[in-house]
Amino acid sequence: MLAPDYSRQMLLKEVGAAGQARLTQSRVLVVGAGGLGSPVLQYLGGAGVGHLTVVDDDRLDASNLHRQPIYARAEVGADKAALARGALQRLNPAVRVEALATRFTAHNARELVRDHHLVIDASDNFRTKFLINDAAVLERRPAVFASVYQFEGQLQVYEPAPSHACLRCLWPEATLDGLVGNCAEAGVLGPVPGVFGSLQALLALKILLGLPGRLDGELLLVDFSAFASTKLRAPRHGGCVAPDCARIRDLGHEPEAADLEVRLLSIEDAARRGYALVDIRGHDEVRAQPSGLPHIELESLLASPELLTRGEIYLLVCATGRRSRAAADRLRRLGLDVRSLAGGLAALEASRHALPQ
Ligand SMILES: [Zn+2]
Repeated sequence: MLAPDYSRQMLLKEVGAAGQARLTQSRVLVVGAGGLGSPVLQYLGGAGVGHLTVVDDDRLDASNLHRQPIYARAEVGADKAALARGALQRLNPAVRVEALATRFTAHNARELVRDHHLVIDASDNFRTKFLINDAAVLERRPAVFASVYQFEGQLQVYEPAPSHACLRCLWPEATLDGLVGNCAEAGVLGPVPGVFGSLQALLALKILLGLPGRLDGELLLVDFSAFASTKLRAPRHGGCVAPDCARIRDLGHEPEAADLEVRLLSIEDAARRGYALVDIRGHDEVRAQPSGLPHIELESLLASPELLTRGEIYLLVCATGRRSRAAADRLRRLGLDVRSLAGGLAALEASRHALPQ
């Protein structure tokens, strides 16, 4: 085995032999091995960060490959965490990689974060981002966050220091998934998460090396549709500790999927089972791909839940089942009997093709 060669980064006076030794002794937790996680893992592995833990419970889908170039077409269907470990071992066998094909939850978040020097949020959902935030605040560990939406994204660093704000200093209430766009439904060009993941890796190396200029108290917004970037002041909340800025217990509740989500073979199947179907997709989506179902756009439905009749059992339908699940979860808290079509119209389409003629 060839010994790793870090000479081109060690030439920097900011790194040198001492910095390289620090990287070798560092342990970094990467939550998510997707579009952000791919470059994060490649650059931290290449830099010789001694221990990387990858948490991802997803399997590789062919639609991931355009933005997740550490994987290959032949690997579709396999656990991403294990695949990521394989890719890193080929890149740099000197790095120890732990692959956890599990969900990052309120039950394991604190222990995982405590066991590392730094955590990177490479997730694609708000629930996980707020879990990482709360665990980082409670365990006093730095965290590097990124979010991407179509051509835009934002980057934020939390450190347990007065110059840094956490996510909840800026957004006290955790944003609900499915109610705003995410890559699964919104669409994204691969290099956009690629750039943000690369920036996260850079910030992580700066934090590990103790270098200045790491978005202290700032939020970086970049819009690649116009190549415009802005830095906003991100003021730290006076009480950036539990319970204001770390409410991990609130995130422990998971809606009961068995009751919330309904699997169907066809629209006719839904009618037979007595569901009132509502398509909650956007007007443009419905125009492009009509479902023929009664249509109330998500935003209108959440703003006017009285559009639904008490006593009816509603089944909400969207493209992939993500928005409908979030909307159903919220409407059920108002006492309405609302469920979500698991997998959305995409699942109906897939089951139609799977059935014998
Ligand atoms: Zn805070």
